[in-house]
Amino acid sequence: MDELKNKVAVITGGASGIGEATARLYVAEGARVVIADMQRERGQALAEELGDAARFIEVEVRQEAQVKAAIDLAVSEWGQLHCIFNNAGFGGVLGPIEQVPVDEFDMTMEVLVRGVFLGMKHATPVMKAAGGGSIINTASIAGLVAGRGPHVYACAKAAVIQLTKCVAMELGEHHVRVNAICPGYIATPLSANTVGRPDSLIEERIDTYTERQPIPRPGRPEDIAELALWLASDRSKFVTGQAMTVDGGAATGVMWQEQKDVYKTYHPIKVYRPD
Ligand code: NAD
Repeated sequence: MDELKNKVAVITGGASGIGEATARLYVAEGARVVIADMQRERGQALAEELGDAARFIEVEVRQEAQVKAAIDLAVSEWGQLHCIFNNAGFGGVLGPIEQVPVDEFDMTMEVLVRGVFLGMKHATPVMKAAGGGSIINTASIAGLVAGRGPHVYACAKAAVIQLTKCVAMELGEHHVRVNAICPGYIATPLSANTVGRPDSLIEERIDTYTERQPIPRPGRPEDIAELALWLASDRSKFVTGQAMTVDGGAATGVMWQEQKDVYKTYHPIKVYRPD
């Protein structure tokens, strides 16, 4: 219950899905959180539900001043910042490469890469001055292997992983740890395409999620929140520069079910021995 006692965190994209589950878990574990999100109604309702340990601020993560304002709010309310979870995101532009409009390419990269960059940029001086902190960035298995997400989304998530590693090399000497989480298929409004609609619709839209990874159930936002908890806590204090996957095994390789009958049937091995 006290893994994050007296810690202060900013969570972008904290109003929904993975960010919401993380905000709930952080508060349950004793932290105080700033929920920074563009969804005002949802973010405000969550902050009210979580009570004194939470504040909401409306933030568009592409906007530098707004990202900085979220960090400033944490410091002005609670005097410190131990963790920033740069998690806000969306699916971005879809479609074959020859049809991707340039402005939508730019917008996708701005939300997914620039947003993470801004969170890191403005959390860094506060954490350096305090002698340490934990920066956590949400990437994706789409950033690790090709074909697990739309082209531009995947490219942006790969950039998040590399930015995470590069900044970890810089900030280690200040005891500021920088890690990325790579979720697999997680049942959220983003993946179920229900953003702005009731969460009850999610279950109707994720029927294929049980078969997408070796562990036969949909990934849940709470699965990601558990790793975000560990990374924010002092238990992970020697861990930095990592891209950690939570995907039920989805990106590890070819599913047993897909390996056809070749490997499913047992044949006694015939070993050749010369007479
Ligand atoms: P979600 O839609 O439930 O939550 C995303 C939140 O980010 C929303 O509250 C949304 O309002 C906010 N947001 C989006 N764009 C924003 C912007 N420009 N400024 C401020 N807030 C913004 O989706 P989720 O699945 O919880 O996604 C969280 C993160 O996880 C994203 O970065 C996503 O790419 C990543 N991810 C999700 C999955 C999955 O299967 N759900 C898999 C891999 C990675």
